[in-house]
Amino acid sequence: MHRRLIVPGAFVATLMLAIPASAADYTPGAPGIGDAYYPASGNGGYDVSHYDLRLKYQPKTDLIEGTATILATAKQDLSRFNLDFGLDISEVLVNGKKARVSFSGDQEVEITPATPLPEGSAITVVVRYAGKPSELEINGYTAWHRTPDGGVAAQEPDSAVWWFPSNDHPLDKATYDVSVQVPNGTQAISNGVLQGTRPVGSDWTRYSWRSDKPQASYLATLAVGKFDITTDKTASGLPVLNAYSKDLGANDGAARASIERTGEVAGWLEEVFGPYPFNALGGYVPNVTSGYALETQTRPFYSPKQFANGSNVSVVVHELAHQWYGDSVSVDGWKDIWVNEGFARYSQWLWSEKEGEGTAQELADYVYASHPADDEFWTVKPGDPGPDKQFDLAVYDRGALALQALRNEIGDKSFFKILKGWPTEHAYGNAKVSDFVKYAERESGKPLAALFDTWLYETAKPGAPAAAGVGVARTQAERPASWKKIAATNTIHDHGH
Ligand SMILES: [Zn+2]
Repeated sequence: MHRRLIVPGAFVATLMLAIPASAADYTPGAPGIGDAYYPASGNGGYDVSHYDLRLKYQPKTDLIEGTATILATAKQDLSRFNLDFGLDISEVLVNGKKARVSFSGDQEVEITPATPLPEGSAITVVVRYAGKPSELEINGYTAWHRTPDGGVAAQEPDSAVWWFPSNDHPLDKATYDVSVQVPNGTQAISNGVLQGTRPVGSDWTRYSWRSDKPQASYLATLAVGKFDITTDKTASGLPVLNAYSKDLGANDGAARASIERTGEVAGWLEEVFGPYPFNALGGYVPNVTSGYALETQTRPFYSPKQFANGSNVSVVVHELAHQWYGDSVSVDGWKDIWVNEGFARYSQWLWSEKEGEGTAQELADYVYASHPADDEFWTVKPGDPGPDKQFDLAVYDRGALALQALRNEIGDKSFFKILKGWPTEHAYGNAKVSDFVKYAERESGKPLAALFDTWLYETAKPGAPAAAGVGVARTQAERPASWKKIAATNTIHDHGH
């Protein structure tokens, strides 16, 4: 009954004429994928395997125009399905036939195909669109960075809505071909391997990128501007491509002194986390005014401000660690953010340990001692922080404390086996906090539910220090040498929501 009320009359008539009786079983896909924190994120009823984005961007006006071709599979008998998108759509084709389009909510595009889509069938969606991302605000918020020479899409938990239609949630990963035409003298940076550039007429150049492993929509990035690009290859032959805005001023040297170490850092991370999961490496620093960094797949985004006090390799360690913890193994829901951030922060502690600037234990002791029992820090549950506290410092520092507590409980041998095994266990997939707890229990042979409950879910300062078993409950701890650089990355996900 309810469904009939929201289906426009004309469509009902079409259905009755053209579709066999069983079509009554065809229902609309859900407008959200079921995320506990962000109900509107993603959509139900289908699963995307590939995005092909063929775009043109004019930096002078911020106008983006293009065609998205989306390959998907129906997961139910679908009468209609949604995409998440905010720019203007001129036409949608589903399996080559013009579809009916309407809009609801902040970002929901409702697409009714000419013919309903049976469960299991392949769907090809072509969306022609245009718009100025800087003019799109949702609840007073924009994920798009307008720069003097272009624009940048790099935000969490979503940025896709500002530049391409998608099933915008980490649960639906896909491969990407991103091809962008920009004026000569301007570059377009995206994920994966730069397949090539070619002239379009006498005034434009097309940049074509390919990211050939499953990628969450918020990890797709686009940066158009005037960049200086450096290229290299890793010891194992993967292409490294870094891009620096020509407009970085005093931050230019420090940015390069950090990001040019990407290959070295990734090589060290391979020793800790196992083989690098993707087809390319790099990083880019556009001339944005924000302060954060983001683990955009294969090619992290760094704000110039990350380097305002000099080089900081620790932020590079953090974003590259996410390639395993966050990008290859992604959150199942946004409440599982600890499976990203606890490990990325802990990787910074391990880097400090390797560099002789303070062991992870010393950093854990320092964090533990720095937050008295009445500090709000201990009221945030890293294992389920809530949408408002999703990127709270506690998710990072208390989240890393949890890992040090685990290390102390099961010993280095088991601990590092788990750190390396997990990214393979769930490669290119999604995982929940509880999946990690189960995995750690299985691999270590120890019951760990109580330990994780203490460090990830209790809302009071745990009575025992992270160093349980090896030392005293310190109320004061010496500040490790690496602390300042690590703390300088605390703005790493200060996304300005
Ligand atoms: Zn992070």
